[in-house]
Amino acid sequence: MKLIDPASLGFLLLPFTQALQLPFGIPGSVQGIRSTLGASFKVPEFIKKFADPISTSPLYSLHRSLIEIPSVTGNEKGVGEWLAAYLMGKNFTVETQAVSEDRVNIFAYLGKNRTTHTLVTSHIDTVPPFIPYKATSNTIYGRGSNDAKGSVASQIIAVEELITEEVISEGDVSLLFVVGEETLGDGMKTANSLGPKWRAVIFGEPTENKLAVGHKGIVMFDVIAKGKASHSGYPQLGVNANSHLIEALYKIEHMILPKSDLLGESTINIGLIQGGVAANIVSPYASASVLIRLAGDLDETLEVIKKTVHGLPVELKFLGVTYGPQETDHDVENFETIICSYGTDVPNLHGDHKRYLYGPGSIFTAHSGNEYILKSDLTEAVAGYKRLIKESLWPTKRVPAIVDKVIKEETVIAPVSRSAIVGDKSS
Ligand SMILES: [Zn+2]
Repeated sequence: MKLIDPASLGFLLLPFTQALQLPFGIPGSVQGIRSTLGASFKVPEFIKKFADPISTSPLYSLHRSLIEIPSVTGNEKGVGEWLAAYLMGKNFTVETQAVSEDRVNIFAYLGKNRTTHTLVTSHIDTVPPFIPYKATSNTIYGRGSNDAKGSVASQIIAVEELITEEVISEGDVSLLFVVGEETLGDGMKTANSLGPKWRAVIFGEPTENKLAVGHKGIVMFDVIAKGKASHSGYPQLGVNANSHLIEALYKIEHMILPKSDLLGESTINIGLIQGGVAANIVSPYASASVLIRLAGDLDETLEVIKKTVHGLPVELKFLGVTYGPQETDHDVENFETIICSYGTDVPNLHGDHKRYLYGPGSIFTAHSGNEYILKSDLTEAVAGYKRLIKESLWPTKRVPAIVDKVIKEETVIAPVSRSAIVGDKSS
């Protein structure tokens, strides 16, 4: 360690404080201080805190690094490379799985055991546009700060802490961070070919640190009307596609769709309408894009949609992203619950695993121009993920059943220790 005369500290820090125009001689960059004084110089904690409070927290600094790398869907290469290197640096075995050119999923685990009991997962892509990172005393702004880099950072720190505390070890938990969640879910769909099947999967999405009871499904379709152009003064010579579309959309908007006790009503959004050429031309073509957030049965809903437009001169074109409502496991003590109306990667990962959906931040600010997350929510999420991981490995509610089984199987009833109970990971 280099020793330094305190009187000369202000002089040495001057270039950094000037560069960032910070008041009272407070240094602006811990890295800058190190590069001037040498890598071996140990920057005192109080200077670090003043200069860059984020850097003193493994959670906040990991979160910042993830946000600072733009990763709008389709351009996740940079954040994937960074995250793989970070996890290798933390002694995880890291695999990258190609999804498409330059886009990879990151799969990480301890040692050689790829097949773990529990999988912890979220996504590393974001919606556009990129919004730079900014931190205030309580709040962190930036694209992905909430959806879903808040989940990614707090999941990783939760797992790191459980390893350090020797609560989990090789074979217990693996991490999967996928691309493409915000559009087609191609990252998670590709992850199905990784190989392992898990007993429990914890998905990270903004749920306000509440445990989701489920989320609605999605049906997307286009309504297409074809007409025949003519002079608007002689409409009898043409066929107006706009008129046909308007009639169909009115009926679609007033359809009665199946609902459920758990998720409530389905909602219908006619999000995009296009049609016609000009006011003085009978419209030869019109189309609309409709998205239904589905609370009830998928097949019944598809039947209702088809019946609604039956006999009308329009075509329906159903699009790739279609799935029914998703119920998620939420029978865990001491978690508030929430119903979600947005889509996730939950249906894209196949298997009969338990499915938990939980994460920091609110969906109401996700995808917005003012996306943010509270620092306190990130901290709380680390604790929440740790509890969920432990619950997935050793469900407290299953203990009586295990005790019961042991008692029945033993001719001589031996005392069952807590360590024997928590060591049982069967589901
Ligand atoms: Zn998300």
